[in-house]
Amino acid sequence: MTCPKCNSENVNIQVINEQKLVTKHHGILWWICIGWWWIFVKWIFLTVPALIFAIFVGKRKKIKNVTKKKAVCQNCGNVFNLN
Ligand SMILES: [Zn+2]
Repeated sequence: MTCPKCNSENVNIQVINEQKLVTKHHGILWWICIGWWWIFVKWIFLTVPALIFAIFVGKRKKIKNVTKKKAVCQNCGNVFNLN
């Protein structure tokens, strides 16, 4: 395992357990620039099909636990994804 940034082999691998369905907090600038249309686009492309899916398939909800491996370079501090 080598760091893609500095090619150092002094890399620490960490396993991070992430839970999706976590609400992200965005700054006010994000809402002004991206938020309003992004939510709109997301609502159309994600919520509507999700609702249709929920109606026809049923109310099976899953919280997805995603295990991610991340490597932290001890030399330059670069964090990069493995997989
Ligand atoms: Zn590095």
